[in-house]
Amino acid sequence: MELQERLDDVRARIAVAERDVGRAAGSTQLVAVSKTFDAEQIRPAIAAGQRVFGENRVQESQGKWPELKAETSGIELHLIGPLQSNKAAEAVALFDVIETVDREKIARALADEMKRQGKSPRLYVQVNTGLEPQKAGIAPDDTVAFVALCRGELGLGIDGLMCIPPADENPGPHFALLAKLAKSCGVEKLSMGMSGDYELAVAFGATSVRVGSAIFGTR
Ligand SMILES: *Cc1c(COP(=O)(O)O)cnc(C)c1O
Repeated sequence: MELQERLDDVRARIAVAERDVGRAAGSTQLVAVSKTFDAEQIRPAIAAGQRVFGENRVQESQGKWPELKAETSGIELHLIGPLQSNKAAEAVALFDVIETVDREKIARALADEMKRQGKSPRLYVQVNTGLEPQKAGIAPDDTVAFVALCRGELGLGIDGLMCIPPADENPGPHFALLAKLAKSCGVEKLSMGMSGDYELAVAFGATSVRVGSAIFGTR
């Protein structure tokens, strides 16, 4: 299959998943995860009308996205990988959505940079729903207080929550937990679901799914 066909297939499956659970058509945003692929490999997706992309490394993104953004208007770039506070300036400068806010130090660094640059990328808090030690994200039990700290003391707008369920578990309960936490926090956006489980994530209320290999091929 060509990239265009794979992209159409993913879009069609999202539409079916939305219809199956009675959600509005188009209520799920498709974030095409282009990590490890270079500008030449990303251009066909842009030509096919895709405008929303996800990357997991700041430095890798700096090597391709300034050029791609300059070529086409309306590109929306999401940071979906762990962020170090020494990269906060670069992240604020390049990304439109930062999905991986998960500790006070990074939240403070982002708040400072946003003020300095006069830029306001939309922010999501990453939740470690499986409490995996090697994985980034705030613990589920600490999420409500952390979102309140970001909004209150730091004055940050938090639009959503994001999670990456453990690879070897049924993702359903993790998606359900994230949806429940979002309600408790009063946030509207839910970033969950990848190539293997995005249709299930739509059923659990994902407002965006992050799909890489099903669109771009294996990495
Ligand atoms: C790589 C990545 C994805 C996409 O994974 P695929 O299985 O290729 O769809 C989604 N979310 C995050 C955080 C990732 O790092």
